[in-house]
Order: sequence, then C-alpha cells, then structure tokens
Amino acid sequence: MAHGIFTLPDPKNEPVLDYRAGSTERVELQAKLKELRKKEIEIPLVIGGKAVKTGKLAECVVPHDHGHVLARYHLAGKKEVQMAIDAALKAREQWAAMPWQDRAAIFNRAADLLRTSWRTTLNAATMLGQSKNAMQAEIDAACELIDFLNFNTKYMEQIYTEQPPENPTGIWNQLEQRPLEGFVFAVSPFNFTAIAGNLTSAPAMMGNVVVWKPASSCVYSGWYLMKLFEAAGVPAGVINFVPGPGSAVGPMVMDHPELAGIHFTGSTPVFQSMWKTVGDNIAKYRSYPRIVGETGGKDFVVAHPSAGADEVAVGLVRGAFEYQGQKCSAASRAYIPKNLWPRVEKKMLAMLDDMTMGGTEDFTNFVNAVIDRGAFRDITAYIDHAKRSKKAKIIAGGGYDDSKGFFIEPTIVVTTDPHFKLMEEEIFGPVLTIYVYEGKDWKKTLKLVDATSPFALTGAVFSKDRYALIEARETLVNCAGNFYLNDKPTGAVVGQQPFGGARASGTNDKAGSMLNLLRWVSPRTVKENYNPPTDYRYPFLEADE
Ligand code: NAD
Repeated sequence: MAHGIFTLPDPKNEPVLDYRAGSTERVELQAKLKELRKKEIEIPLVIGGKAVKTGKLAECVVPHDHGHVLARYHLAGKKEVQMAIDAALKAREQWAAMPWQDRAAIFNRAADLLRTSWRTTLNAATMLGQSKNAMQAEIDAACELIDFLNFNTKYMEQIYTEQPPENPTGIWNQLEQRPLEGFVFAVSPFNFTAIAGNLTSAPAMMGNVVVWKPASSCVYSGWYLMKLFEAAGVPAGVINFVPGPGSAVGPMVMDHPELAGIHFTGSTPVFQSMWKTVGDNIAKYRSYPRIVGETGGKDFVVAHPSAGADEVAVGLVRGAFEYQGQKCSAASRAYIPKNLWPRVEKKMLAMLDDMTMGGTEDFTNFVNAVIDRGAFRDITAYIDHAKRSKKAKIIAGGGYDDSKGFFIEPTIVVTTDPHFKLMEEEIFGPVLTIYVYEGKDWKKTLKLVDATSPFALTGAVFSKDRYALIEARETLVNCAGNFYLNDKPTGAVVGQQPFGGARASGTNDKAGSMLNLLRWVSPRTVKENYNPPTDYRYPFLEADE
C-alpha cells in the first residue's frame, strides 16, 4: 500500500442559485418537476445494497395536491429490520478499516454529484414530496447537504489529526478514533432533506454502519438521497434504508445488543420515548449507546423599544412563515414593545397581503402546503383554539382548506396572555403568536421569554441599543442554542452557525460541526515506550547513605 499524508481542500459554502425567471437552473428544475410528476415510482427498502420488497405498501403524495401519488413504497417489518441490522454489522469490519481519506472521497463525491448532475433531482423531489418552494428546496436539499458533506469531511480530518501534545523522550503517545462498536440508528424528520443526509452520513463517514429510518412523509426524497449515496460509492450495507412506522421499526432496533448510537432529529416526545426505551434496555447493550437528538422548539423574537420596526417585521414574517413555519427554528412567539407595534403590525400585514399561496411548481408562490393530514389537523386545532379564546385575536390569516392540498394561511395571533397556549407549545406550522408589552417592562419581558417554554432552540433579539443586546444575551443565556442579534432566528448555515439547542430541544451536539462527529467515535489512547524499563526499582527506593 502506498503511504502519504493527504489533506482535504478547505470547504466553502455552496452558493445558493437564485432561480430567476429564464435562468438555466430554473428551466432545468421545471423540466425535472414535470418529469418526476409524470411517473409513479416504486420504492423498495435497500438492505445490504439490495432492493427488498415486502409487498406492504404506503403512498408518497404531493402535499399541495394530495390526490397525486408520486410513489408507492415498501414498509419494513420485523424480518427486514433484522436483515438491515445484520447487513450493517456484516459491512462494518471492512468499512471501519477503510482509510479515512477514502471515506472522505466517497462523501465529497456525493457532494460533488449533488452540486452538479443530481441537484435538480433532489431539489425537485423535495419540492414535490415535501412542498418546499424552489428557494427553500435549494437551500436545503442542495446547499445545506453539500455543505454538511464537505465541511464534515474536513472536520473529520481535524479530529484524526488531533494528537496528544506531549511526547517525552522515548515515548510516542497517539490518539486513535475508533468507530463505535455496533451500528448507528439514524431516524430522520420530514422537514429537511439535508438533515436526513447528515443523520446518515455523519456517523458513516466516521467509519460506522447505519440503519436509517426516514419519516414516512419524506420517503420520496429519501429514496433519491439513497440513490445519490450509492452513486457516490457508499458500499453496500454501510447505510441501509428501512422506511416503516417508527413505532414498529424503532423498538426492534433499540432492542438489539449491538445498538451503538442513535442519531435522531424530530419531535421531543418521540425522542424522549426513544431515550426511555434505551434506558429500559441498558443492560442488554454491549456498550452505552450514544444518544444524539435535535428536537422541538418554541423559538422567540424579542424586540427592544429601540429596534427598527421594518427589520423586526421582516424578521418575523420570514422567520415564521418560510416553509410554512415547519422549521424547528421558526419564529413562533414574539414580544413586541407597544411603541413599535403599530408600525410592525402594518408592515407585516402588508407583506402577508402580497404573498401568494399554492403549489411549488408555480414559482410565484411564497407559501405552499403543510406536510400531511396529521399536521394539517394539529395546526388548525391551534388556530381554532385562538378563534374561540377571549385572550387572543387573529389579525391575519386564520383560514385553511385541505380539499386539494394541505393549505393553511400564514396566521398571526395577538394575545393578551403571555402564557397563552399558543405562546408555549410547539405548533410546527404557519402560526405566529405575539404578545405586545409595555416598553418599560423590558427586563421583566426578558425573564418571561426565559421562563415561558421548555424549549431552547433558537431565538432572536432586535435592538439598536448595544446595552440592551448585551442584557438580552446574558438573561437569555440558556434560552437558545442558536441566538441571533438583529436577524431572524432561522437559516443557520453549516460552517458558520452550527445548529442545535438545549433544554427540551435536544442534546445540542451541533449538526455540521466537529462536536457532532466526535459523538460517533470512541477514542483509544496508545502509548509506545521505546525503552521499556528493565528494573522494577524506582530511584526513591535507594537507601540513604
Ligand atoms: P416526528 O418526531 O414525528 O418524527 C421523527 C422521526 O421519528 C420519524 O422518522 C418518525 O417516523 C420517527 N419515529 C416516530 N416514533 C418512533 C419510535 N417510537 N421509534 C423510532 N422512531 C420513531 O417529527 P417530524 O414530524 O418528522 O418532524 C418535526 C419535528 O422535528 C418538530 O418537532 C421539529 O421541531 C423537529 N425538528 C428539530 C430539528 C432540530 O435540529 N432541533 C430539526 C428539524 C426538525
């Protein structure tokens, strides 16, 4: 075998294409959307590199046109879960032994394919299957995933390069980073194609093998992602694709003694139930499974009386309503001082008036559909609650219609009760609730923001007064893992703002950073002595003269 020290090029964030009318990227994307919509595909499981069909089928539909079936996919049962674990464990030895530069090359190649020939496919699948508009799909399925792959391989290099600083004469100290002993269970949510790509590839690039259960409502883009990994050269068995009901697949996977880690993104209750299951099974495992989970949020925007009304309004509208508020980071509760409120309100209403809602294939729509019937039902129940309450007033939106697609108007609720249900619970839809406070109560309001919700994912403060920014930053120190000064609380970029929250929002292992990758390795220190002692006696044993 040839030897050498090979380092990876420094990554750069993938530029976001803007899909202007007539641009090449727009024409290509429109053609791909037509092509994918025209054909209904069949999606098998992929286990040990082989397509596996169970005959138990479920549908992938277009959320903004739910009568249209994009695909029928096979559901994993007990037998297939066992097969996937076996296939992963079988692939483990060879994969773990592969030089890390070769693993990096595979995932950097995936990034390169996604940057070029696969870009429109992943974007179009995300637009159709998850109802993301062109811009939202581009920043997710293309740019963020390309960044995850390129930045993580570089972080991997840094992790392997890190060595003990001290080597006294005659000693060589080394630090090895071993993949976990067993397999990793990756469980992905519906809302980001890039998250599915990261939950699987981050442990895999560190030499682990993965059993991947995508959310039922994004099996369609998940399938194309799996094909991308295959095209890039991820070997058979390293990532195994097993769609199926979480409540069936999850318990069986977590019952296995070789479960070495869970890489999860999704809701807080599901994560907590998984943690409990692991706890109940703890004596069964060969090692303590690493549990990494990024979960729910109730993300806030708080404006100081010195803030600019226009920027607060834009931060709120973009932060709350892009991708129909289905981002874990979406602004969903806001605290606006009385002096700013009339101007903020006016500007927000004008923006909402201008927005159109509809399918993603019509590029003029800012707002599209929510993901599925379950989400539609849950979100509209919150809107109905606000309609019935004496403590709340809906000042924009409030309408919904699921006859063709799962459409919910961007809705703004103003409440007189800072502990109103909609101020405290995660809704995960296009609903923003606002509490208007007396400017003199700024300090009290910061305390209120801190104490209102169990989550601590993202938050933003707007102010032109630097002292107020400092005060908010201090008072809200545990309130958000991603904290924004004079910006909306969404849109974290890999390599710039590693993402994750604390409290009920997750283990804060920061997706898209070295911190996350460190969870997928188990270090071993190796000390080599060039001159092993040949006498057991230490100098202090000498007798006094
Ligand atoms: P979800 O919790 O309903 O589902 C997430 C995944 O868990 C799915 O694959 C689902 O099938 C699976 N699952 C369900 N029950 C399971 C079980 N018992 N065992 C194993 N797996 C099981 O979440 P969702 O609706 O897909 O996504 C929305 C949620 O994700 C929101 O709460 C949002 O805040 C959160 N989210 C968080 C982040 C973050 O970085 N913090 C990012 C994106 C989404």
